[in-house]
Amino acid sequence: MGDKADDESSGSPKAEPELNMESLRKRKRESIEEVPKKRRIKASEDENDGTNQSIIKASKRPGSPIQEIIESKRKRGEAMGDKADDGSSVSPKDDTEQLSGTTPAESPIIVTGLESFTFHKMLGEGGYGKVMLATHQATQQQVAVKMVKKRRLLHKSRDKILIERQVLEMTRKSPFFTQAFSTFQSQDYLFYVMEYLSGGDLHSIMSNNAPFPIAATRFLAAELICGLQYLHSRGIIHRDIKPENILLDSTGHLKIADFGLAVMNIFGDTKTSGWAGTQVYMAPEILQDKPYNTAVDWFSAGVVIYEMATGRHPFYQGKTDETTIKAIIDNDPVFPRKMDPQFKAIIYGLLDKDPESRQKFVDNIRDHPFFMEINWTDIEEATACPPFQLPPPPVMTSDTMKDVLSFTETNNPQIAETGQKLFCGFTFANDGWKVIK
Ligand code: ADP
Ligand code: MG
Repeated sequence: MGDKADDESSGSPKAEPELNMESLRKRKRESIEEVPKKRRIKASEDENDGTNQSIIKASKRPGSPIQEIIESKRKRGEAMGDKADDGSSVSPKDDTEQLSGTTPAESPIIVTGLESFTFHKMLGEGGYGKVMLATHQATQQQVAVKMVKKRRLLHKSRDKILIERQVLEMTRKSPFFTQAFSTFQSQDYLFYVMEYLSGGDLHSIMSNNAPFPIAATRFLAAELICGLQYLHSRGIIHRDIKPENILLDSTGHLKIADFGLAVMNIFGDTKTSGWAGTQVYMAPEILQDKPYNTAVDWFSAGVVIYEMATGRHPFYQGKTDETTIKAIIDNDPVFPRKMDPQFKAIIYGLLDKDPESRQKFVDNIRDHPFFMEINWTDIEEATACPPFQLPPPPVMTSDTMKDVLSFTETNNPQIAETGQKLFCGFTFANDGWKVIK
């Protein structure tokens, strides 16, 4: 551990970094997975077991029903050498699924492909895809459509390629996650049709409004805690908790988004490994190439909660990302003066360098005095009143965008049939939706 860096207690003026949303905005914020060779900060050889992305202790838990469906469909696809649902390599019938436990409504909302939507504007763009605001033409329902280029995913293994869609299925009963209505694919793209969250992402909200009042931070932290506990109890690590992946709905409730880097089946003592996430939100154990578990999400959550209350990064060092990353590994967080002591205690617990004691802290976090005013039942049921009064969603204009997909892909050779098979089993429809392709 580095020196104690709480400038309130040390009284050292130079310990207090400048308020720095601007520098945060400029930081390398891309989500990354896999390993650029020069990335390592400091990893002693004995800490690096060299098993990137491998599950260290394989879970014996059986696959989820959806996983089994996907598996059996993949097998069928392979055996039959099918064509894709866009006509290229996998059969439409075999790919489309009304998933386990869903009861199709009497008049389902029909999706026949991209042509079912009118596109209006880009809502955001991350490391893997573009998200567009769209209207489902037949019902005039507003939705967010995420488009991910298959080519970007082709380096991933079979098991990882459908994880985002599997996690969306697993989280559909919880109010703390972006709900997906359906997914479908074309030859070059995967499409996720999701509820439109008009409050926007925390990164944009913080850029204009941070620091938040402590009560607002407390409320959003409580919702984030409920969401992460829901995820972890199902063996899922998000691995990319950061403001861009946390959205607010029109009423100001928090929703976790983007499961593109999630890993599944992390129960009990199981650990995984591999470089994944966004550098300045990564837990020290990931940065040091150690095996890790769900506790990494709590570290990232600690950084986000700190940013909400202060408008800056807890390990900000002013110069390069590299110095900030070193500080994540070695230093204690630095707090502004006159920070609520209970808030500081929460942050110290979440930013604990030791994942085991961090996890122990989180096990009792709901009882922490910082959350005394929180009624956890109301939070769990999303009936508590959110702190932000958000402006109403923009009135839909008739603005439409043509060519929502960049057709640069057309110059690329088609993805080979073996590649297309990786995406077999992708299409699904949630309650009340139906994909006909
Ligand atoms: P990526 O995997 O490429 O990072 P994300 O799923 O994180 O993609 O989405 C990128 C951005 O799009 C988010 O940071 C957010 O600003 C916006 N966004 C994503 N989903 C929604 C949604 N359902 N409603 C509104 N905006 C969204
Ligand atoms: Mg994202």
